[in-house]
This record gives sequence, structure tokens and C-alpha cells, in this order.
Amino acid sequence: MIIPKTIKIGSHVFTIESKPNLISDRDRYAEVNYRTNEITIDPSATKQQVEESLIHEIIEIIDGHCEMRLSHQTIKTLGFSFYQVLQDNNLLRE
Ligand SMILES: [Zn+2]
Repeated sequence: MIIPKTIKIGSHVFTIESKPNLISDRDRYAEVNYRTNEITIDPSATKQQVEESLIHEIIEIIDGHCEMRLSHQTIKTLGFSFYQVLQDNNLLRE
């Protein structure tokens, strides 16, 4: 997967930034800031963790934007499952 510098989700453009210590300080590989429209990802995460986390954050943004009110467990399952299908079918090639 190519990690872009920006990504458009719905009508919003989010920047994707590297943010050290998310894993140690916040117990997560990535997070979204809706005030600044930033997706931050810990640079020490593995390639798989980065890719899976970006898909997870995209689903969270869509969930919020569309007011679907999915549980976090559902978002995690969708993210994990989408990542598996994309990865195992070679759809994330660079
Ligand atoms: Zn989440």
C-alpha cells in the first residue's frame, strides 16, 4: 500500500502525518484528529500495522461522517477483514 500524504474521505481532506510514541503514550498505532483533519501514525509501527491502522481510521471517519454509530468492535472487525481481503488478493501492491 502506498501511504499518501493526504486522503479525501467524503468531502474532507485529511493529512497523514507521522507521530512518534503513539504506541507507548496512547496505546494505539494511529489516531484521527477531527479538529485538524489529521491522521497520525506511529512511525515505529510495522508496515502491516500502518496499513491496517490506516484502513481502520478510514472506516472510523466514514462511520462518524455518516453517523452510522458502529461499535468500535465492529469497526475493528471491518478494518481487520478489509485489510485481509486486500492483502491476500494482492490489491495493496505498490
Ligand atoms: Zn479505533
